[in-house]
Amino acid sequence: MKKLKSNQIGPWCSFCSPKTARAVYREDGFARRFCCEIHKDTLLMHERDTIDQERRVTEADIQTWEAL
Ligand SMILES: [Zn+2]
Repeated sequence: MKKLKSNQIGPWCSFCSPKTARAVYREDGFARRFCCEIHKDTLLMHERDTIDQERRVTEADIQTWEAL
């Protein structure tokens, strides 16, 4: 998660109702969700879930290849 620089502020928070709060942080990686100060923890949890999911998929792939 990265804090947006003041010149990058513009996107809306992905967890608030649409167009109610400007994002202050953005997610690392490709998913690029944004969050306001209130939803910092929500985005952190989401980031952790995404990382876990990616790891599970990778492990499943490895097992598939080993079975062949
Ligand atoms: Zn929010």
